[in-house]
Amino acid sequence: LRLSNANLAQFSQAETKPSYDRTQLKHGIVHVGVGGFHRAHLAVYVDRLLSNLAANDWSICGVGLTPFDASMRDALAPQDCLYTVIERSAAGSSAHIIGSISDFIFAPGNEEAVIAKMAHKDTHIVSLTITESGYYYNENTHYLEVNDPNIQHDLAGEGPPRTTYGYLTAALARRYKAGLKPFTVMSCDNMQKNGSISRNMLLAFARLKDPDMAAWLSENGAFPNSMVDRITPRTMDEDKTGLKKDFSIEDAWPVVTEPFMQWVLEDNFSDGRPPFENVGVQVVPTVRDVEQFELIKLRLLNGGHVAMGYLAALAGFKYVHEVINDPLFAAYLNDLWYEEVKPLLPQIPGVDIDDYIRTLHSRFSNPTLKDEVARICLGGSGKMPQFILPSIAEQIESRGSIGRLTLCVAAWFRYLTGIDENGNKYKVDDPMAQELKALAREGGASPNALLGVQSIFGDDLRYDGRFVREITIAMRTLDRRGARKTLEKYVELED
Ligand code: NAD
Repeated sequence: LRLSNANLAQFSQAETKPSYDRTQLKHGIVHVGVGGFHRAHLAVYVDRLLSNLAANDWSICGVGLTPFDASMRDALAPQDCLYTVIERSAAGSSAHIIGSISDFIFAPGNEEAVIAKMAHKDTHIVSLTITESGYYYNENTHYLEVNDPNIQHDLAGEGPPRTTYGYLTAALARRYKAGLKPFTVMSCDNMQKNGSISRNMLLAFARLKDPDMAAWLSENGAFPNSMVDRITPRTMDEDKTGLKKDFSIEDAWPVVTEPFMQWVLEDNFSDGRPPFENVGVQVVPTVRDVEQFELIKLRLLNGGHVAMGYLAALAGFKYVHEVINDPLFAAYLNDLWYEEVKPLLPQIPGVDIDDYIRTLHSRFSNPTLKDEVARICLGGSGKMPQFILPSIAEQIESRGSIGRLTLCVAAWFRYLTGIDENGNKYKVDDPMAQELKALAREGGASPNALLGVQSIFGDDLRYDGRFVREITIAMRTLDRRGARKTLEKYVELED
């Protein structure tokens, strides 16, 4: 049975489906970037608001800004924007029909409709999952990529907007004129300080384009920071056929995800918010609180992915669950988490780090998600300085052990050669791939060439005698023995 409002009554009660009247909803939230993650995360929390708390003013109007979003429109429109979240774990699968997205606007060709919707008085929040590239944030200058052709185009204002900032400023200018409050800009992208970056980049853009409005926005706007977490792989064709077979639901684009979800959100809103805290969101008073949760997640979850990813790729593993279910890799990761990362983490009342690690272990072991090692190896040049190197620097500072953390950097150096231990070639997918591959080849058995990349390693680590010694030994061991035998040595050594 194809998903649609008319067919909703016919789906079984066994799985959850909207119990609220979808004709009575108002759009309190406009969301830009209706991809897999949004549909598995914010839209699910909002679905709970509508189901449990009759918060009818807070449904979502989805917006797709890029030409690729035509396929999301084509999937959602015939099914009244209903879709299914398939939750998978070793214990089994469940299907949940989600109704919180009650309209979708494909922006190309409908620019005015998007701006009018954002400017509408019923819209209180514009939320974003537009990927890192959608922010036009320059990591080095910490300023907007003003020279980017899309930003230049939107600043000039000739023709319809191309960037999120073009749309947001057009809508905010209307609200400013109409005497409305600015909507809250709520980033749900996986970036540290996602709210502060949204604020700084949008204000930088607005100051160049419309200084009066920018001053008003700076004074009255709100940009909450948040930490978001739910592993959401890409939907595969077999997910659609499985849904039809197992649950009799015909859905053009379901979402597959894990049962776990988390959202820590700074309580900073300019035009009201729904009672998110009543549907499982951890609403916290300050940005500092978000940062502490974020640190735990980045160092353990993302750091854990990096730590096992490159070693696993060298050893020829395909899926994440296969790696963590290998006792050798599990022991390595546990040692790294408990001995080299945990001592550095803040203590937050109500958060038990040991529990967090145990949950991570079981999330990584989920065989049904089919999360790929290749996915967690993407973009190492961005991941190392965020997830691994700060732990090494802090452990050095406090004279703690760095052996396992250093081993994963050595494995990344080996990974950059583009050939695994079985002689199989793979693509190194990284914005700096060309430079890093050349340095990996040039350096040979020595780490020095790669350690010289200042934008990744800064100035301190490459001159730290202990770190350089340990990474040199780790690289040699990997070369001589391969990843498995090296791990045996590292795990055994520390016992
Ligand atoms: P996806 O490919 O399914 O969706 C990406 C969405 O971003 C699309 O709707 C696309 O239109 C939009 N987009 C891309 N570039 C844009 C731009 N320049 N301007 C405006 N919109 C743009 O990917 P996803 O899995 O939904 O991930 C999206 C983001 O969610 C990630 O970048 C990450 O920040 C966050 N996230 C993802 C996960 C996950 O496990 N997938 C977990 C936590 C956070």
